[in-house]
Amino acid sequence: MTVDKKTVVVIGAGSYGSRVAQHLVKSYKYKVYLISNLEYFYFLASTPRALNYDTPSDWVDKMTVPLKSVLPETIDLIIDDVVDIDDTKVSLKGHEDIPYDALVIATGAKWPSPVFPEFNGDRTIKGLQDYYEDRTQEIDDAKHIAFVGAGFVGLEVVGELAHKYKDDIKKGERSITIYHANKDLLDSSFGEKIRRNIQNDLESSGVKFVFDTKVISNEKGEGIIEKSGDKIVADKIYFTTGPVANPPSNSIAGLVDGRNQVKIDSTLRAIGAENGKVFAAGDVTDWPRRLVQYAIPFSVILAHNIDAFLQGRNNFEKAFEPPAWAKGGVSLGPNSAYGQLPVPILGYITLPKSVLVKVKAKNLFTDKFLDFAKV
Ligand SMILES: Cc1cc2nc3c(=O)[nH]c(=O)nc-3n(C[C@H](O)[C@H](O)[C@H](O)COP(=O)(O)OP(=O)(O)OC[C@H]3O[C@@H](n4cnc5c(N)ncnc54)[C@H](O)[C@@H]3O)c2cc1C
Repeated sequence: MTVDKKTVVVIGAGSYGSRVAQHLVKSYKYKVYLISNLEYFYFLASTPRALNYDTPSDWVDKMTVPLKSVLPETIDLIIDDVVDIDDTKVSLKGHEDIPYDALVIATGAKWPSPVFPEFNGDRTIKGLQDYYEDRTQEIDDAKHIAFVGAGFVGLEVVGELAHKYKDDIKKGERSITIYHANKDLLDSSFGEKIRRNIQNDLESSGVKFVFDTKVISNEKGEGIIEKSGDKIVADKIYFTTGPVANPPSNSIAGLVDGRNQVKIDSTLRAIGAENGKVFAAGDVTDWPRRLVQYAIPFSVILAHNIDAFLQGRNNFEKAFEPPAWAKGGVSLGPNSAYGQLPVPILGYITLPKSVLVKVKAKNLFTDKFLDFAKV
């Protein structure tokens, strides 16, 4: 074990950031600052159920935990906004600059509304409760809702709403329509059978799909069908068109690519940072998938590689490439989920619905998310 008081600054206390910070103090004993813009850890993959729960605030209680209660006191937790990062230090809005020997950027991505918690000025769990209470009311007030994008997040949100409003949809009092630019839902990492099961399930609840139709947003936030120029008629339109990387403000030239993603190599080191001291992991990077399931192995690899770098060794470990076929399931409310497991030779196997309902849909990870927050 290394006993060293070099300073590592970790920005972002999601699964990747909070876990790597803990490994760095528990296994390596570095001085670690963890900078978070929120006082709590929340589990993004649990968020869709907040829109389909009798009291959204109670669901938020199930998917959040105050950071102070999961982090050891040896981590210096700072709740603040980053105003700049340069080659030597991190500058904060309300605290002194922090010089670093190594830096980890783990600030995630912005996922589409209505599930992604847009910051409403309150850094406490109450702020998140208010956010989902507002979104739930907004959805309840809208009788005809359009979603743009049938990726897994859009489908999971629609699945929750189809479960909640199934009777109203059947009676014709509400409608949910999903527009998708491609000819089929999801991406090519999901198998044909899963796509059909998801489509059939949602259509049986009255959800309508419109494929091969690209919708763009105009300056008023309305949805316009690109080919025809027609406006989508709906009380509310949500663009569930995928995550956008969310790096903190910085003045490190070449850190991000054209899509604002921090460019990393297989050792999770930022390629563009000339000082060699910057690492990154999770949704903020250009790693090919945005999945929390890799946070546990990658936070171990990342801590090891930071230690190797700080101690002048070159025994860096490589983060593995994701399999071509997705591992996991898409849940459609508490009683339905479809998914697959990559396997050698066959590519993937389709998992039984009952298994996926048990491990994912029923509780949407509220029974296990602490494993992703705490080491
Ligand atoms: C609806 C939904 C369902 C999902 N389901 C699954 C699933 O079934 N399986 C799976 O593997 N993955 C799933 N994912 C993806 C998974 O949630 C993400 O890949 C994971 O959360 C990424 O972790 P992260 O630590 O990179 O980012 P995040 O979890 O987004 O954490 C980033 C943290 O950084 C903070 N932050 C942001 N900017 C700053 C800043 N400037 N300064 C300080 N702090 C900052 C944020 O507040 C946040 O706490 C799902 C995602 C969604 C939206």
